Order: sequence, then C-alpha cells, then structure tokens
Amino acid sequence: MNQFRIKAINIEKEIKCIESFPDEHYIKIVHEAGFECDCCGKCCTSEFNDHVFLLDDDAAGIIGTPGRDFIRPAPYFDVCDNLGRFYVMGYALKTKPNGDCIFYIGGRCQHYEIRPLICRIFPYMLHREPDEDGNIEFRQIGGLDLHGSYHNESSAEEYKEILDNVKKYETGFLRQKLEFIQAIEKYFKENNLRNSQQMFDRMMRQYQKGTEVEVYVFFRGRFEKEVISKQIINPE
Ligand code: SF4
Ligand code: SF4
Repeated sequence: MNQFRIKAINIEKEIKCIESFPDEHYIKIVHEAGFECDCCGKCCTSEFNDHVFLLDDDAAGIIGTPGRDFIRPAPYFDVCDNLGRFYVMGYALKTKPNGDCIFYIGGRCQHYEIRPLICRIFPYMLHREPDEDGNIEFRQIGGLDLHGSYHNESSAEEYKEILDNVKKYETGFLRQKLEFIQAIEKYFKENNLRNSQQMFDRMMRQYQKGTEVEVYVFFRGRFEKEVISKQIINPE
C-alpha cells in the first residue's frame, strides 16, 4: 500500500474518533475548566499562533472580502514532487513582519465578523497531541492556565454549542486533508510525478534563503498555483 493510501486510512480513522467522542465527556472537561476569554489578544499574535489556517469556506469568504491580498499558502508544505514543486492542503491568513495576524490592528480583529472558524473556537479543540511525557491523547483546551480566566460558569447549551463548532472545525480540517491527499495521489499518477523528500529538503533550503518557489495550494477540490518567496510573505 502506498504512503498516500496509508495516510488517508489513518485520517479516516481519526475523523471517526472525533465524531464518536462522547459529548458528555467533552462537556464535563470544559465545564470543570470553566475557561473564559479575557480578550487579551495573544491568540492573534505570534506569542500563541504562528499562522491561522483557513478551511476552504474561511478562505472563500476572505477572498470575497477583504480579498486575496490577505491570504497565502499555509506554511509547512506537505509534499514536494520530483520537479521541486511544493503542495499544501490550504491557505492561511498572512502575518505581519512581527508574526501577528494581518487582521490584528490596534489590539482588535479588524474583520471580526468574518474571522475564520479556528478563531471562533480557540482555545477549544478536540485533537490528539502529545503531553509533556510524549503520550498522545485527546486535548480539549489549548494553552490551559496561560490565558483567560478559569472556574467560570456557563450553561450546558453553551458548552454543547462549543462542542458542535469544535467538531465541525476538527473534522473539517481532517476532511480537507483527506481530500488533499487523495487529490495528490491522483494528480501524481496522472502526471507521472512522485513524492521526493530529497527534493523537499533541497527546495526548502532555497526557500529559506529567499528563492521563489512554486506552491500548489489545494482549494475547493483543485490545485491553485502560487509563486512565493519567504521575504514576500513575512519580511524580516
Ligand atoms: S482573524 Fe481576527 S480573531 Fe483570528 S487571529 Fe486574526 S485578528 Fe485574531
Ligand atoms: S482566547 Fe485566550 S489568548 Fe485569545 S484573546 Fe481570549 S484569553 Fe486571550
């Protein structure tokens, strides 16, 4: 079985795990934490996040208004073909030179009404991450005790709404990844290309030095070609 197929099977399993994660268990954990946002804004800065990943619906909304100038291929390219072209599973918001989100101006989100789904759910999550000892298990709240206030009361309806949005984001992210992997497998087969780690490493070295690279961004079921350099995206 090829590596794309293995990845796809693992993602399908992960989606099922999230979908079947018991509501009561999640609600009990977030209820016990009682997190409340104090609007410090750290999650809009490089202190907490190095990029804001956009699901296709998020990207489509931003492309509509305020426009394409605010998005870029998501960092951490997934694959490189033997001709030196990168592939990535979606777009992200651009960042400012200091690493803050491009929409974060004057301590506020300038496009709060169309903020991406990840911003709407943060710091709630439902995906597996290693803990301090390296044990992989589900995490429900990011940056616990590093922001906001705790032991606040909310209603069961509010927690259920949080959970529904968290599952929507986490499964949406994985479905986009799954479709991306399936599309890559098909595209490589049709165009006689192959995944090359050696080429990935070589092109990343060039990218880090400021050379322009081609990145094929998966969006709405097809690949969009972008030509980018590190300086243009995040000047230092
Ligand atoms: S889109 Fe808005 S809420 Fe999301 S990180 Fe950027 S400034 Fe913050
Ligand atoms: S979610 Fe957390 S980091 Fe973001 S503004 Fe609220 S308290 Fe600050």
